[in-house]
Amino acid sequence: MKSKSAATPAWSIAKSDELYGFKRWGAGHFGVGEDGTVTVQPLADGRSIRVMDVVDEAVAMGLKAPLVIRFQDLLRHRVEQLNGLFAQAIKEEGYKGAYRGVFPIKVNQLREVVEEIVSASKGFNYGLEAGSKPELMIAMAMHEGASSLIICNGYKDHDFIRIALLGRKLGKKVIIVVEQLAELDDIIRVSEEVGVKPLIGFRAKLQTRGEGKWSSSTGDNAKFGLNTAEILFACEKLRAAKLTASLKLVHFHIGSQVPNILTIKNAVIEASRFYCQLAKMGFPMGYLDVGGGLGIDYDGSRTNYESSMNYSMAEYARDVVANVRDICDAMHVPVPDLVSESGRAIVAPHAMLVVEVFERINKRETLGVQHQPKVKHKVVDDLEFLLKNKAKLGKLERFHDAVQKKEEAFSLFNLGYLDLENRAAAESLYWQVCEQIAQETRDAGYVPEELRELNKLLADQYVCNFSVFQSLLDHWALKQLFPIAPLHRLEEEPGVNATLVDITCDSDGKIGTFIDLQDTKDYLQLHPLNGKPYYLGIFLTGAYQDIMGDLHNLFGRVNEVHVFLEDDEPNGYYIEDTLAGIRMNEVIETVQYQWEELCRRIKTQIDAATKKDLVKPREGVRLLEFYEGQMLAKTYLNIDRSATSAEEPRAPKTPRAPRAATAKPAKPATRRPRAAAKA
Ligand SMILES: *Cc1c(COP(=O)(O)O)cnc(C)c1O
Repeated sequence: MKSKSAATPAWSIAKSDELYGFKRWGAGHFGVGEDGTVTVQPLADGRSIRVMDVVDEAVAMGLKAPLVIRFQDLLRHRVEQLNGLFAQAIKEEGYKGAYRGVFPIKVNQLREVVEEIVSASKGFNYGLEAGSKPELMIAMAMHEGASSLIICNGYKDHDFIRIALLGRKLGKKVIIVVEQLAELDDIIRVSEEVGVKPLIGFRAKLQTRGEGKWSSSTGDNAKFGLNTAEILFACEKLRAAKLTASLKLVHFHIGSQVPNILTIKNAVIEASRFYCQLAKMGFPMGYLDVGGGLGIDYDGSRTNYESSMNYSMAEYARDVVANVRDICDAMHVPVPDLVSESGRAIVAPHAMLVVEVFERINKRETLGVQHQPKVKHKVVDDLEFLLKNKAKLGKLERFHDAVQKKEEAFSLFNLGYLDLENRAAAESLYWQVCEQIAQETRDAGYVPEELRELNKLLADQYVCNFSVFQSLLDHWALKQLFPIAPLHRLEEEPGVNATLVDITCDSDGKIGTFIDLQDTKDYLQLHPLNGKPYYLGIFLTGAYQDIMGDLHNLFGRVNEVHVFLEDDEPNGYYIEDTLAGIRMNEVIETVQYQWEELCRRIKTQIDAATKKDLVKPREGVRLLEFYEGQMLAKTYLNIDRSATSAEEPRAPKTPRAPRAATAKPAKPATRRPRAAAKA
C-alpha cells in the first residue's frame, strides 16, 4: 500500500511543466527539475541552476523574499542572440550593411544590468540609447568604442544637446534624433556655439499603427516625431545651416511589445521609403533605426494576442533586413546600417521576482461550516433543500435559485426578520451550493459563463509578501500579464484555485488574471499551504518593472541578488552581488521625515509616560531601543515561522544608528572577480 507520499500518483512533474507552461514562454531557459523545483538555464545550453538553491542562499544571507534574482548570463545571452540573429539574417539575405543595435537604458537602468550589456556588446558594436539627461549621462560614461552608437531620443534642452556634443568631441558616434521641429533650431544653435558638427536623425511619425497595449507611440496624435511636412521643413533648416552632411538617420518607434509581425513589416517598409527619399534628396544618411517593439511571448501562445507575439526574434531580424533591402534596391539607394532599440526583448527574461505566500484567505473554511440556528428561518430551509436535492434541478437553475435565496436572506436581515445565526447559515449554504455546482462543472464540457465565473468567486486568496505597486507596476497599470508558478513542490498536484493579493492596503494590490494558452485565466492552480515557506516565481520581469515601481505604503525596493554561472561551484552558480531592500529609516526620509527626529519624539513620549508611571523606567529604555531598532529593519513583512527570534531586524549596537544617507548596502565579504571565461 502506498501511503507515504503526499503526491497524488496521477500527478507528475511533466504535468506541472505543462500546466505552468515553462516550455512555452521560457524560450529554453526555464524548466522543472527531477526534484520538482524550477530550474533556469541561463545560456539554454543544458547547464542549469535550481532557483530554490538561490532562494535558500539569499535567505541565509538575510535577503528574504520579496527577492529579485538576476541571471546575468541570461542577459548576456540575449545580447548575443539578438546580435547573432541580425548577423545571420544579414549574411543569409546578402545584405550589404551592418547591424548597429542600441540598448534603450530606460528599460532597465540598473548599473549591473547596463554593465553586463556593455560587456556583452564587445565584438558586436552594440551601443546605448538614452531618452533623458540622466540616462544620457549614464550612456556617455558607460559606452565604449568608436563604432557603436549612442542614440539620443526624447525631449531635449540645450544641456542635453551639449552633453551629446561632448560625446562627439570624444570621438563617439552620438546621434541626436529630432523629435520636434523646434528641437532642430536648438541643435543648430548649440552646435555652432560649441563648434561641433552634430550627427542628426529624424524621427518619423509613421501612418503604420502599432497594436497592443503600447500602440499610442505612433500615428497623428503621437507625442513624438515629425510629420511629413515637418520633415521637409527640417531638411530646409539643415540646408540653410549648412548642416546637410549631418543628417544620418531615420528613426521610428511604433510602441513596445508589438504582437504582430505584419505591423513591423509595414512600419519597416514605410520608414525605408522615408530613408530612400531623404537619401535621394542628397542627404548622406547611413542608418535606419527601427526603434523598439520586439516582443516577449509572456504567455507562450505564439499569437498576436497582446501578451504574446506571433513571430520569433529570428523572424524579426530577417523581416527587417529583407524589407529594407527590397525597398532600397527598388529605389537604387545603398542600404543603411540597421539600428534597433530593442529593450524589452533584451532584458525581460533575465530577472524574476520571488514572493512568499504566507496566508490563505479561504471562504470555504469558515463558510463551509454549517451554522444550525435554534429557530431555522424558511429561507435557510430553502437553501438547504437546494443543497440536498441537486439531482432534481439543472446546474444553472440551482445557481439562479441560490442567488435569489441569498438576496432574500440579506433583505430579510436588513428588515430585521433574520438573526445573525440564520444569516450566517444562509451565507454558508449559498457558498456550499456554489461549490457543489463548481465541482460538477469541473469536468463538464461547455460551461455557461455565469458558472465559469463561480470558480473565480470560489478561488482562495493567497496573500504574498510583496507590493504590486513596487514590483509589478505594469500589471496594475496596464494589466500586463507575467508567467507565475510555484518554485517547488511541482511533483505534487496543485489542488487549490487561488488568486494572489499583496500586502498593500489597496484593493488594487492583487493579481487576478493569469496567462493561459486560450485567452487568460482567472485563478492559478497552487498547492495547499503546509506551514513551510511556499515560494512563487513571477517570471520575465526584467523589463520596465524595476524602475516603474513606486513607494505605495512605503514598501519600496526589495532585496536583490545577481547570479552568475560557475562550473566550479557545487550548485553551478555563485551570487556576485547583493542589494539589500530598503530599510524603514531610508524610506521614511524619502517623504521628508528625519528618522532621528521621529526617534526623539518617541523618546519624549516615553519619558512623559515614565513620569506618569504608565511605563517603568527600564521598560521605557527597552521600548525606545525597540523603536530605534525597527528603523533599521526592512519594510516588508518579517515572516517568521520558527516563533523564536528573527534574524531581522538587527538592533543597532548603539541606539544612535548611522545616518541612512551614508549607510551602504552590505556587500558580501567574498566578492568574486568576474570570471575571465566570460570575456
Ligand atoms: C521605450 C522605447 C524603446 C524600447 O522599446 P522596447 O519595446 O522595450 O524594445 C525604444 N525606443 C524608444 C524611442 C522608446 O521610447
